[in-house]
Amino acid sequence: MDMAVEAGVIKQHLIDPEICIRCNTCEATCPVNAITHDDNNYVVRADVCNGCMACISPCPTGSIDNWRTVPVARAYSIEAQFGWESLPAELSPEELAAAGVAADAPETAEAAPAPAPSAQAAVESLEPVFHSAQYGATVPPWSAAHAYTNLFPPKSPTTATVVGNFNCTEAGFDSETHHIVLDFGVVPFPVLEGQSIGIIPPGTDALGKRHHARQYSVASPRNGERPGYNNVSLTVKRVTEDHQGHPVRGIASNYVCDLQVGDTVQVVGPFGASFLMPNHPKSHIVMICTGTGSAPMRAMTEWRRRLRKSGKFEGGKLMLFFGARTQQELPYFGPLQSLPKDFIDINLAFSRTPGQPKRYVQDLMRERAADLAALLKDGASHFYVCGLKSMEEGVVLALRDIAKDAGLDWDTVGAALKREGRLHLETY
Ligand SMILES: Cc1cc2nc3c(=O)[nH]c(=O)nc-3n(C[C@H](O)[C@H](O)[C@H](O)COP(=O)(O)OP(=O)(O)OC[C@H]3O[C@@H](n4cnc5c(N)ncnc54)[C@H](O)[C@@H]3O)c2cc1C
Ligand code: SF4
Ligand code: SF4
Repeated sequence: MDMAVEAGVIKQHLIDPEICIRCNTCEATCPVNAITHDDNNYVVRADVCNGCMACISPCPTGSIDNWRTVPVARAYSIEAQFGWESLPAELSPEELAAAGVAADAPETAEAAPAPAPSAQAAVESLEPVFHSAQYGATVPPWSAAHAYTNLFPPKSPTTATVVGNFNCTEAGFDSETHHIVLDFGVVPFPVLEGQSIGIIPPGTDALGKRHHARQYSVASPRNGERPGYNNVSLTVKRVTEDHQGHPVRGIASNYVCDLQVGDTVQVVGPFGASFLMPNHPKSHIVMICTGTGSAPMRAMTEWRRRLRKSGKFEGGKLMLFFGARTQQELPYFGPLQSLPKDFIDINLAFSRTPGQPKRYVQDLMRERAADLAALLKDGASHFYVCGLKSMEEGVVLALRDIAKDAGLDWDTVGAALKREGRLHLETY
């Protein structure tokens, strides 16, 4: 290693494990894959992070904006960070001196080593890898209302009372999804469609630590599940198996689905300052979701429905692509059917209907390519993707192909969607 680097210090980028709600936003945002996680913590690799700051504003809690001056040779390893319960204190000038570094030593500009020339050449000769997250916007649409975030941070949650809880699918326990209504009483808790809140399950984990908050998208519009009341609704699916399909009982989702009317819950948030709907009355909204990814789409649809009912809305299109395994597992199937066709263009994809071919949201999008291409050409169109992590790549690829087939330059279209806050990805 270069001696100048060895003798230098870096401002090491660290995540505060006490505040982080493990929402994965930073990992999905980082352009150089410097962020990773285990079951305990989200962490930043010192040798990969180049300090570009792309992850700072999307982080809903601010836990990612932590920096410590450390000797390069003694940077905290990811293994050490995985084990943290709290952030280490800044090293004192004496500790830095003991590590052979003057406290005023210049910071090393780049901790990441440049790729070896041969590796670089190999990378350049390949087709650029398609990475859907690079098209996701971290800014809201220009006409979005101002979002309040982190009014109740993880260290000082507020309390809400459960005023409603019912199953919102026709399916049985295995795919049970609940519609939960939480009332904040006299505590101000302003939310916008597309924001989320965190719920802290009671009790402690296997290590005796308080459970961290789990994030749930708000399913109701800005003026409440019941207009004029200080309440929000959520769409929560029980986790009964892990991502690998092994049986497991999800801590927070099962807790929330089992809540009774009158119970109280610890809530943090609200979170999210970019997955917000445009307020411009002629803006078009394309919503692409699976399962509980329907929550923010329900919120946006209902807000537009209320605006239209009160005569305050003129013209922007609403288009929905909604996927589930079967009709019985599709949240809010009944209410969706009662929305007028001239208000919303609904496209449903079922991947496990007996006797029917598997259909996914991206298949439906390709079938509606002509309409989507027209919307891609229109600068007033906004695209929202929410639901299973596995859907994201396919959906953004479908958008890219639809743009290309319509003779549009995807690099230009994709960059504009990102820059103007018109393509938002929220998958988990
Ligand atoms: C921005 C954002 C918005 C979200 N919105 C919603 C929402 O509106 N509705 C909703 O139900 N969930 C939503 N989630 C997911 C939610 O935050 C939790 O991850 C989910 O409820 C599981 O938490 P748990 O405590 O039940 O499971 P844990 O006890 O945390 O995990 C149990 C096991 O299941 C795995 N696991 C975690 N989540 C899933 C999953 N979804 N499918 C399969 N395995 C899983 C874990 O890796 C672990 O092995 C959202 C997540 C994010 C980041
Ligand atoms: S500062 Fe940039 S490189 Fe570092 S973790 Fe954040 S997004 Fe990644
Ligand atoms: S809360 Fe911030 S630091 Fe934690 S996972 Fe989410 S984006 Fe990353």
